[in-house]
Amino acid sequence: MASKPQSGDKVLLHERRWQEIQQFRDSGGNLAIIPVGSVEQHGFHLPLGTDSMVAIRVAQDAAQRTNVIVTPPLWFGWSPHHLALPGTISIRPQILIEMLFDVLSSLATHGFDRFVIVNGHRIVNIPWLQISAEKAQRELSVKVAIFDPAYMSKEIADRIGFGEVGHAEEIETSHMLHIMPHLVQMEKARDYVLPEKKLYNIDPRIPKDTLCYVPGTAKDLRKIAKESGGTSGRPSQANAEKGKQLHEHLVARLIEVITELNKGPGK
Ligand SMILES: [Zn+2]
Repeated sequence: MASKPQSGDKVLLHERRWQEIQQFRDSGGNLAIIPVGSVEQHGFHLPLGTDSMVAIRVAQDAAQRTNVIVTPPLWFGWSPHHLALPGTISIRPQILIEMLFDVLSSLATHGFDRFVIVNGHRIVNIPWLQISAEKAQRELSVKVAIFDPAYMSKEIADRIGFGEVGHAEEIETSHMLHIMPHLVQMEKARDYVLPEKKLYNIDPRIPKDTLCYVPGTAKDLRKIAKESGGTSGRPSQANAEKGKQLHEHLVARLIEVITELNKGPGK
């Protein structure tokens, strides 16, 4: 069984009524998961919403097995490096910081005091989420954890045999083949491996020294996008079974994070 509907699930905040959220709070529930992603090109074969869909589904599947609520996702991320291809929507980092803070702040008003942000947009979103989370912890007395699938699958990714982290590559494609197979057009997938840059790598599994991530210039990225069609990596190596293993690992790890957060004292 791969895909299933995203709605009709009791863990989704936007499908509940306010009294049900009140009830959730009255029964001691105080943790919410906030999925964040992006709307950006994902090669010839994956939909623009891939990062958000991954975050939503990991959050939803973990929430079903724990007593937590999933908020609507922050669909848009910072994606200047993908604007070369149409459909990509990029929001400025300061907007992302403020929007996330306002979501945290609103829920804190209702007594939610711990949060897990599930980030489907990888390294590009992380600094902004960290700034927002730190501000929330300081000003709202809440606890915020940031759960990033690329970091939280370092162990299993090697066991599954995934190649390096790229974009719309084997890892994301396998994950989508498991959770949203009807949105993947494998016949259009095209491998494109960027020439190795000596001092630079975005894969958290790489042990060697590496420079920190700064998105390339619009000019460079237009050139690469033209050559690659938006992919970096080998989506041809993807399959649903690898995606299932990855997904189950991530859901299990997220449940662990939720359990740990729930152990701590409340406000
Ligand atoms: Zn992605």
